[in-house]
Amino acid sequence: MVGREGQGFVLAMETLDLARPGVGAMSIGIAQAAFDAALNYAKERRQFGKLIGDFQTIQNMLADMAMKVEAGRHLVFQAACKLEEGLPFTKEAAMAKAFASDVAMEVTTQAVQILGGYGYIRDYPVEKYMRDAKIMQIFEGTNQIQRLVVAKQLFA
Ligand SMILES: Cc1cc2nc3c(=O)[nH]c(=O)nc-3n(C[C@H](O)[C@H](O)[C@H](O)COP(=O)(O)OP(=O)(O)OC[C@H]3O[C@@H](n4cnc5c(N)ncnc54)[C@H](O)[C@@H]3O)c2cc1C
Repeated sequence: MVGREGQGFVLAMETLDLARPGVGAMSIGIAQAAFDAALNYAKERRQFGKLIGDFQTIQNMLADMAMKVEAGRHLVFQAACKLEEGLPFTKEAAMAKAFASDVAMEVTTQAVQILGGYGYIRDYPVEKYMRDAKIMQIFEGTNQIQRLVVAKQLFA
């Protein structure tokens, strides 16, 4: 027998708590890779006689992407620190998973946009990052469920 009789659901939920910071960390890794690819491309690609990174619109997109990746990373670190210290971390794990995977989806989509047509085809890695990001919003509890978990903790 694994664990105590009648406690299977609690054990399953605790296992999900443990896995969620990991999904958050994977999400931030994907987002960072997409951000790096987009930034490098913006420093190389020339259109209309300029680097696309000289266009303020592209700069603003990259600034938003950078802010969101850092914010997600801090939520993941916060959940991991609480876990390491043996403190309750259900809410932080759900926040880290949902926020980081939403960031991954948004940042990878923006990376595809910055690469334009090259973002959409397999010659560059960002289209794969975008597909990889999507599952992060779905498994280990969909992000709708993470929001239920966070809300339940808020009203506990
Ligand atoms: C590539 C991949 C790998 C996977 N690996 C694993 C694994 O290793 N272990 C494992 O156990 N599972 C795994 N899964 C399953 C995954 O956890 C489920 O697909 C996920 O939990 C969603 O369940 P579902 O597909 O039945 O969607 P459903 O539960 O049918 O949900 C459909 C939609 O309804 C929403 N929804 C459902 N209930 C509510 C609610 N109460 N409130 C608000 N919205 C709701 C969902 O958020 C979603 O948007 C994997 C799935 C994939 C695609």
